[in-house]
Amino acid sequence: MAAYQLYDLQLLDTSIVRTAAHRASLDDGTAQRAVVAATVQELADLQGRLAAWHAHLRALDLEIRSVGAKRAKFDADLYSGRVGNPKELAAIQEEIGSLDRLKGSLEDEALSVMEQVEQVEPEARRVEAALEASQAALTHQEAAFIAATAAADGEIADLTARRSALAAQIDEYLLKRYERLREHKGGLAVVAVTGGICDGCHVAIPEGRLQRIAEDPNALAACDGCGRLLVVRGVQV
Ligand SMILES: [Zn+2]
Repeated sequence: MAAYQLYDLQLLDTSIVRTAAHRASLDDGTAQRAVVAATVQELADLQGRLAAWHAHLRALDLEIRSVGAKRAKFDADLYSGRVGNPKELAAIQEEIGSLDRLKGSLEDEALSVMEQVEQVEPEARRVEAALEASQAALTHQEAAFIAATAAADGEIADLTARRSALAAQIDEYLLKRYERLREHKGGLAVVAVTGGICDGCHVAIPEGRLQRIAEDPNALAACDGCGRLLVVRGVQV
């Protein structure tokens, strides 16, 4: 029953190839890791901008206080009665006016920075939540990858063990012929005939030939269309 043994070997090899391809196609989380990295960067950028604005606001606040202190000093001079000279009084009032204008412009600047902070803070919170979600998705993906890889490895090990046991029962010369054919025929050396048609190339096999193949599976018939070895099932011998 050499043909059937080779056919079973073929089925095992096809399963091994398919399982290995499935294993290779498993998502190891690379794409999700890129999403996490991009989100980390986005959050760092937003937090960096917020930190710079907060530092700017603290500097403006100090400056506004210092301007206020200076103005208070001039105010005290003005109302102390110590300064009687009208020229000197006018100079003090001019200083006060210029300090008020400076304070006003510093306050405007602080307001505009605060507006920017208010716009970006919700965005930073949104990105923070997105980062948490994408990190959770990555953790999940990595766990799923490890489980699926282990399952595929187990399946490949099982198939390979069955293949070795079967190959040990097959004549060495036949095995070599099988391997050579498999190499040259896209991994498919032995095919079944279904409904009189070769599964490998879909060419019809004449009825009389089918009968002969089914009668003597040890003869190892090859398909005229594709050259693969044929296995015939379901033909009454
Ligand atoms: Zn064929």
